[in-house]
Amino acid sequence: MMTSNNVPIVAIATAPGRGGIGVVRVSAPDLSVFIRQFFNRELQVRHAHYLPFPDSGGQAIDEGIALFFKAPHSYTGEDVLELQGHGGPAVLKRIMQRCLEVGRDIGINLRHAEPGEFTQRAFLNNRLDLAQAEAVADLIDASSEAAARSAMASLSGSFSNLVNALADRVVHLRMLVEATLDFPEEEIEFLEKYQAREELQSIQDDLQHLIRQAKQGMILREGMHVVLAGQPNVGKSSLLNALAGDEVAIVTPIAGTTRDKVSQQIHIQGVPIHIVDTAGLRETEDTVESIGIARTWAEIEKANVIVHLQDARSPNDELDIEITRRLPARTPVLKVFNKMDLLDEAALKRMQEQVEQTSEENGHEALAILVSAKQETGLDTLRHKLLEIAGWNPSAESPWLARERHLHALNSANEHLQMAQEHASHDDRVLDLFAEELRLAHDELCKITGQFSSDDLLGEIFSSFCIGK
Ligand code: GDP
Ligand code: ZN
Repeated sequence: MMTSNNVPIVAIATAPGRGGIGVVRVSAPDLSVFIRQFFNRELQVRHAHYLPFPDSGGQAIDEGIALFFKAPHSYTGEDVLELQGHGGPAVLKRIMQRCLEVGRDIGINLRHAEPGEFTQRAFLNNRLDLAQAEAVADLIDASSEAAARSAMASLSGSFSNLVNALADRVVHLRMLVEATLDFPEEEIEFLEKYQAREELQSIQDDLQHLIRQAKQGMILREGMHVVLAGQPNVGKSSLLNALAGDEVAIVTPIAGTTRDKVSQQIHIQGVPIHIVDTAGLRETEDTVESIGIARTWAEIEKANVIVHLQDARSPNDELDIEITRRLPARTPVLKVFNKMDLLDEAALKRMQEQVEQTSEENGHEALAILVSAKQETGLDTLRHKLLEIAGWNPSAESPWLARERHLHALNSANEHLQMAQEHASHDDRVLDLFAEELRLAHDELCKITGQFSSDDLLGEIFSSFCIGK
């Protein structure tokens, strides 16, 4: 993926398929010759020109708007030309072919852009830092308004600014320490004189606040994977339909009909939740069905949360006890007793008492609730429990989107600051070790904005973009 940084590139920037408008984008260090060859005239910078896009024989391929952004004031930081034509696949392809042809004619090595290559250039030319570049992809991929809002906040730099501010404070403290290192007799006074420990503590407090927000931002970005598991006919498909609000799975009264997995993404308070419906778990001779059951176990292994659906009329069913025993101990399980509408008053009371006792089972906490998929009761409780298990704090703000990578760096920085704190409070305080931990903490923070980034990391981040971005 890592490709030469200043080879001219071109791509259709709008989504494939038909649309009112489609955009072809070209980026290169210098496009003035290209533009003259393409239009047989100059284009004024940042000016909307309405004109024909001619083919090699001078016939119009399309008519549209041409916009020319001169380096460095463009998305990529290079010269950028945007051609807005009609949004049909054939016409856009012809416009792009014409661009490649013009590139050949004038001897520049214009080629198709790789996914994310425009944004990668923006990063390499310091138009965006790495966290902002990631936010571009996250904004495009956002599946809820809350996620889009938070991605936009990251893109405009609110996350990067907080990280940079903390990094600056760490550097400042480190400079003070290093200035003292040459005068060993002053080491002890240094810590007191500059209130170094207090400042370090205050940096740590702010970092921990950032970590809490990053966790929220990560949940909002990544969401969670929930698997619906249980015996045939307990109402898994009905529950998925009720949660999704439309018919995605086939509901039938014949046991064992959901043989393949059906998955659906829903949102709870903007958090994306991927729910997988599975084939019912039971002893079976049917080979087709047993394949479905094997897949169910595979889904269970991958899930962040398992919803173990059971019939409220038989809460201590032997097969359910067996299923519980086989669930992976590391994954949280929510026991959901369905069909509560079929319980008589006494049974309902008994079940309500049973679900209230959250019990230690199988090595992890088993949460239990009562619902009716058919009458859509108990679903709000179910939604809240799912968010709770995800670690979502409904009252905390989630000001920006975060990735696993960011959280990892924040946590490592925090560990180094903790080590620094320990060196500072030790009897024979070792200032050079203190300074070294500050340096390591600073490096971790800088990884987030990409001041230190390997080609591998960049390749991984930008290759997940769509083409044309
Ligand atoms: P699955 O095999 O676990 O996916 O179960 P289905 O969703 O296909 O449901 C099996 C049967 O149970 C269907 O006839 C549903 O209408 C019925 N059912 C599902 N949930 C409820 C419920 O909460 N109450 C009642 N009374 N019936 C339900
Ligand atoms: Zn089903």
